[in-house]
Amino acid sequence: MSIQNNLRFIQKSIPENVTLVAVSKTKPISDLMEAYEAGQRIFGENKIQEMTEKWEAMPKDIEWQMIGHVQTNKVKYMAPFVSLIHGVDSLKLLQEINKQAQKNNRVIDCLLQIYIAEEESKFGLNEDELAAILRYIQNDKNEMNHIRIVGLMGMATFTNNQTQVAKEFSRLKTIFDSIAIHNSQFTILSMGMSGDYELAIECGSTMVRIGSSIFGNRN
Ligand SMILES: *Cc1c(COP(=O)(O)O)cnc(C)c1O
Repeated sequence: MSIQNNLRFIQKSIPENVTLVAVSKTKPISDLMEAYEAGQRIFGENKIQEMTEKWEAMPKDIEWQMIGHVQTNKVKYMAPFVSLIHGVDSLKLLQEINKQAQKNNRVIDCLLQIYIAEEESKFGLNEDELAAILRYIQNDKNEMNHIRIVGLMGMATFTNNQTQVAKEFSRLKTIFDSIAIHNSQFTILSMGMSGDYELAIECGSTMVRIGSSIFGNRN
């Protein structure tokens, strides 16, 4: 299967209201250009330096999304161009994104990453931390005018147990709905990867992040 065929197959299998992020981390620019030529304009990367190099080299109508864990001291490198940051999991990081966005005269869209898996290793906020951050952002005095929280992101446990994965995705969807009902900026629920995106969509995902099913396995 070619990258273009993989991409067309996935585009056909997801509903129109679900956005496909092509996760191109570790892949060479020639692979990304194949996807670009098939019409893909949204790419996800998990390392800021790699994303910046690709941004510099590739057509400027691409939306670059950061899907990985972000170190505060590296925000400045992507602030001029990043279109969405998925993995925001602390107020400190959000404040730095706000500061760097302001320097670049931009408003940067962010998703708050919620911890839904059973594994210890995954990053993310719990529900109390989420509520505290939303409260802080909503307080005008804090002047967080250069970021917009547009939704949530989560990663399910890496397991074949579909019941468990569905339970985790559904929990994230419930949390998302409880905020979206009184916050019209909340439009993106980023959940689902190559192995579980169909289930994620069934559970209410509006954005899937797919790498290996498009570009092949990574080393
Ligand atoms: C790598 C990665 C993906 C894509 O994973 P695949 O299994 O290759 O589709 C999705 N989300 C995040 C956060 C990732 O780091």
